[in-house]
Amino acid sequence: MKNKFIAERHLNYVNKGAAMAKSDVVAASMSDCINLSIGNPDFDTDQRVIDAAFADAGNGCTGYTNFQGDPELRAEIAKMYKEEYDMDVKDGQILITPSGCGSLYMIMAMICEPGDEIIVQAPYFSSYCLQIELNGGKIVELPTYEEDDFQVKPERLEALITDRTKAILINSPSNPTGNCLSVETMKEIAAIAVKHDLLVIADDIYTAYSYQDKFVPFASLPGMMERTITINSASKDYIMCGWRVGNVILPEDMMEVALRINQGMIFCAPSVSQRALIHAIRMRHEVQPAVVEEFKKRLTYGAERVNAIKNMHTVFPPKGTFYLWINIKDTGMTSNEVSEYILEHAHVLLLPGNNFGDCGEGFLRASLTVPVEKIKEAFDRIEKLDIFK
Ligand code: PMP
Repeated sequence: MKNKFIAERHLNYVNKGAAMAKSDVVAASMSDCINLSIGNPDFDTDQRVIDAAFADAGNGCTGYTNFQGDPELRAEIAKMYKEEYDMDVKDGQILITPSGCGSLYMIMAMICEPGDEIIVQAPYFSSYCLQIELNGGKIVELPTYEEDDFQVKPERLEALITDRTKAILINSPSNPTGNCLSVETMKEIAAIAVKHDLLVIADDIYTAYSYQDKFVPFASLPGMMERTITINSASKDYIMCGWRVGNVILPEDMMEVALRINQGMIFCAPSVSQRALIHAIRMRHEVQPAVVEEFKKRLTYGAERVNAIKNMHTVFPPKGTFYLWINIKDTGMTSNEVSEYILEHAHVLLLPGNNFGDCGEGFLRASLTVPVEKIKEAFDRIEKLDIFK
């Protein structure tokens, strides 16, 4: 790419997530392709939420909202935190944003001096690279391994800390591993954050999909509220990816700057989407259970299928999200080779694990955002391939 008006740092930037785009083009050229690559749920937002939001739009909620977000939504979020986690979140800590990506970009713009290091639990959601690096930060991978149950190991975390380390970014339930950090692991991370005086960014966007234990927000650990920024999003928890709305919970003394950046980026999150999220949170006990059950059913079925195929395996029973993280090391091939082979010979699109950081090599990610019959067909095709015989 060459254009004299574009800043040098963008022209030289290598986007590690770009491999996905190539496979998407190939997949689109196959009429029978089963696409297990996208983390976009195949359900629509609950009709009751849509109706209530549209009614609000009809009643005039179509202008800018308060820059910190619709006060009714902020109150609803604080109430939800009290009810679900017995946490006291102050209104001055809640900023409504245009979703998780918007929050992460804004946070990195706020905290990164050029060269500041952000330690990221890996494998990780690949857009973290853009959010950190385009804001001058440096991403430092903190690998987690299957033999450790994908838990962050404190000694590994501590070994990565330098005088440039600014924050630790964790994500549980995790995209792409589908695993959840144990409370014990979170406490170990908290102790290290205190010892080295670091900020923790907790990407809590899959809270509803925690199948074995009730989700525990990192910020609820003793002493963590003052050094944690929590990322929440309507996208997955309420099946509202396209509404582009979420929020951050941050220490009160960071609000002024966060608000300014958010205002510079968008003024405020979309007003109708904010109304929709108010209704989704209020109706969460009605709208979430069926969806969560369906994803759990798909993951359990998918994991059974994977574990019955030679040369691949995954964690069983599944712990969280709607992703299967499949170990394919026994094939003796790389993640890219296996995903390309499966795409070419079975017409099933899975993402190579190295898209999610170096420690993702040897894995594939399957997003189970298609009905069980399609998942069945995908694994019926895959199990017939030579590399799995
Ligand atoms: N964090 C993680 C871990 C994700 O998987 C995603 C989306 N797949 C996001 C953040 C961003 O989601 P959104 O911008 O839709 O809230």
